[in-house]
Amino acid sequence: MVSIAGVCLFGGLPAKATARLQTWEFDTGQNRFMFTTDSSVQPQVSLLPHPKRLVIDLPGIVTDEAVGNQFIGGAVTAVRVMQADARTTRMVLELDPSYSLDPHQVKVWGMTSHQWVVQLPSAIQTAAPKASPPPPSSPSRSSAADPASALPPLLSRNQVTHAPVSRSATVVQGVQVTQEGFFVPMQGAAPQIQVYRTRNEQQVRQLVIDLLDAAIPQGLSPQSLPQGRYGIHHWAVTQFSTNPPAVRLILNLDAASPDWQVSLVSGGIWLTPVGMPASQIATAPTTVVLPMFNSAQTQPAQAAPPPAAIAASPAPQQPAPTQPSRDRIVVMLDPGHGGADPGAVGIGGLREKDVVLAVSHHTANALRAQGIAVQMTRQSDQTLDLQPRVDMAESANATIFVSIHANAISMQRPEVNGLETYYFSDAGHRLASVLHRRVLGTVPMNDRGVKQARFFVLRRTSMPAALIEIGFVTGATDAPKLRDPQWQAQMGQAIAQGILDYIQSGR
Ligand SMILES: [Zn+2]
Repeated sequence: MVSIAGVCLFGGLPAKATARLQTWEFDTGQNRFMFTTDSSVQPQVSLLPHPKRLVIDLPGIVTDEAVGNQFIGGAVTAVRVMQADARTTRMVLELDPSYSLDPHQVKVWGMTSHQWVVQLPSAIQTAAPKASPPPPSSPSRSSAADPASALPPLLSRNQVTHAPVSRSATVVQGVQVTQEGFFVPMQGAAPQIQVYRTRNEQQVRQLVIDLLDAAIPQGLSPQSLPQGRYGIHHWAVTQFSTNPPAVRLILNLDAASPDWQVSLVSGGIWLTPVGMPASQIATAPTTVVLPMFNSAQTQPAQAAPPPAAIAASPAPQQPAPTQPSRDRIVVMLDPGHGGADPGAVGIGGLREKDVVLAVSHHTANALRAQGIAVQMTRQSDQTLDLQPRVDMAESANATIFVSIHANAISMQRPEVNGLETYYFSDAGHRLASVLHRRVLGTVPMNDRGVKQARFFVLRRTSMPAALIEIGFVTGATDAPKLRDPQWQAQMGQAIAQGILDYIQSGR
């Protein structure tokens, strides 16, 4: 067993903390969208209806300037690029309503880990009337046919198979993408490992790694495994409840993938490509099944009045009982992300969307206990775009808007931890400062400051607005706190107290 040798592999990390979107373009002739970033990225793509649009999120990527609507032509009528939160760039391709896009025909591939192509089907078809019913059994459609279930993000062909295990000497935490390849972090004793090279029934080359007396955490999900990176288009992680228990990792290698070296080091296993740097491995085109959501799940109830109500009353909808008066304080809380959009995913698969929802509920409860009216842009694990969040704050005539997020940076930067609070307008600046000061005074954590940023929800809301990043899901110090329900309650109450401070100091 090599103990320290693995550590030096961390040496070649870029010094800059943020990666940027460099270029994007839609090629009308080829019907493809291409973009480059100045660092590795794993895009997450989903297809949303009403209006029909393709949403591409770039976790860990910032964009300096939000580019406005741009006319594109053809299937894509406009491309919008925005900063969705502190570390995520969102690109939205508005699709022509007459363009019927089969989610099974969208291909996404990386030319390198920072140059990506989203290929739409080349022929523009108009939506055909449903002349014949679909075939009774169409196995490839099974995942798209059930939008109610939580669908894996794009490219996720990974599998995780859990099985009951009483105890094990080693816990395999997951798989991380690094500059050099992959790292499989482990806790506990170093396991015995056996490595095989084989092919499956389709003659796809496979690397099989068996870890003896090892287990995976219950929360390990296919989405938390690398998605189509470095020529590995499929990861399978299987728990066996043998005695002792065992974990099997299977990597399916693309044609372009070289062989991989497996090195057991202190704290985990390195997987490094043989004969070429990981960044040079091209990724083969992958046909993807896009997560699709119907309007019932993506639209908040108040954003879509029932058709009957429209027909009955020619006047604009005014939900009279809850209409706020000017004097009444209404706090709009905005838990970031949700549903198909997990937000940042950090150590041990910790998901931003889960943490911020729990914290937001604590904040809402604490404020309501003080007699403050609170509304939330989402109350459950629901997919929600940025514009509807702004619309809800405006139609509720909210007094203030507070968006709650968790931060992330590369998995190789566990030393980055702390609280950041953002504003855009002057009015937001005071809210952000008061909030930030109260949270830091209540919940001990590293202070990364109050900063101005052009986030969509901060720019588009008319009331004082702040966006708080309550810690790093990738941070060694922050991640264990973020997943702790007691800490979540403490943070939620601290945010509520910060909001009260602001209200009481005469907004
Ligand atoms: Zn976020």
